[in-house]
Amino acid sequence: MSFTRREAILAAAVTTAGASGPVFAAKRSPETKFLWGAATAAHQIEGGNINSDYWVMEHVPGTYFCEPSGDACDSWNRWQEDLALVRAGGMNAYRFSVEWARIEPERGELSAATLERYRHICLTARRMGIELIVTLHHFTSPRWIAARGGWENPEVVDFYARYADRTARALAGAAQWFCTMNEPNAQVTSKVMQRKPWEIEPRLRADAAKAVGSDRFHMYFLGDSFKVRDNCLAAHIKGREVIKSAVPEAKVGMTLALQELVAGPGGEELYRRILDNARATFYQAAKGDDFLGVQTYNLSRTGPEGYLPATTPPDERDFSGFDAPPSALAASVSEAHRETGIPVMVTENGINTNDDAQRSRHLRATIDELAKVIDGGVPVFGYMHWWLIDNFEWSSCYAHRFGLASVDRINFKRTAKPSLAAYRQVIADIRRTRHWA
Ligand code: BGC
Repeated sequence: MSFTRREAILAAAVTTAGASGPVFAAKRSPETKFLWGAATAAHQIEGGNINSDYWVMEHVPGTYFCEPSGDACDSWNRWQEDLALVRAGGMNAYRFSVEWARIEPERGELSAATLERYRHICLTARRMGIELIVTLHHFTSPRWIAARGGWENPEVVDFYARYADRTARALAGAAQWFCTMNEPNAQVTSKVMQRKPWEIEPRLRADAAKAVGSDRFHMYFLGDSFKVRDNCLAAHIKGREVIKSAVPEAKVGMTLALQELVAGPGGEELYRRILDNARATFYQAAKGDDFLGVQTYNLSRTGPEGYLPATTPPDERDFSGFDAPPSALAASVSEAHRETGIPVMVTENGINTNDDAQRSRHLRATIDELAKVIDGGVPVFGYMHWWLIDNFEWSSCYAHRFGLASVDRINFKRTAKPSLAAYRQVIADIRRTRHWA
């Protein structure tokens, strides 16, 4: 894998040059260059995120996590190797998230060293020709937030705004694209789908509360989804405001979980409930944003009791047997733009499969479908493949594989899969045939 080594050497050289050298200009407008990238999230790759609410829950007896995140991919130390893979794939962008629990491990105590590390990552990436899309909140929060009632407690909005302000200031001049929150609609979507209460939740929350010395514990996917939704939306609006005042050239949006949704036989009522509760409010809030981040993996057909069984051919189903046709992304992107009127960035898309050849086919077919809607006039200015490296897939732990590269669980060595080269080729082909790319 000689290209990886070469890119790693480049990354290392840039790193040694330090954060004070010349900065890649960040003045590009969204329309001038298509962003081809891959995405990750801090808790899923960095490792050792010990001050986060997820870490607490991963260690509660009887937890729903099959194993703790542990060292994850050790990207806290190996981020240069990740950037090298981005370049090896011929990409010019990387979406990653900064970790609130590292930046503010205790209430009001912001870590200058952590902020400096993230700034350094952004500057290094830019010198390598990689534009950063920075997500400020990707599911995890500091444990002290969870101990105060987390996203169920309206206080979280001001806590988030202070964190967003300090983080954006630290990244000023080093990053231009900001996602305030990752999938603030995912929680409420699961709630609308849920048929009965999740029995173990009260006990897990009580045990986690004890572990953080509180009488409360709330983390993102638990609890009262409607309170969570409203607080997330308020945090998004405030976040957008503080980021834009800290970084005048910033382009700010949120990302939404948007599977292609179709009403199947008897599924009209559920379809309507999902649209009204988990999409319409968010589309409305996004209208003041610079872009909407679209995240699509599947086609979901509603029935009277939930989603209907898969109907697509086997090659268009994922590891879990769900429909994952390559047309799903184009459908979601079109809906998102139609409902908001704002430009779209695909901030996540990929397929959960251990069959890497299937991933390569899926990637090409998906981009072909996406290109058609862009040709037809839908303003899409970026595509971030999810994910760059195999990593910690939340409660499914390390069993699922969406990556363009694998990571050895013992020595953390990254190995590019053939799909990384396939993606590189897709990018080259689209660039050759499309003026917008
Ligand atoms: C989340 C990711 C997750 C992916 C695949 C997305 O909804 O943002 O963190 O890994 O889905 O399940």
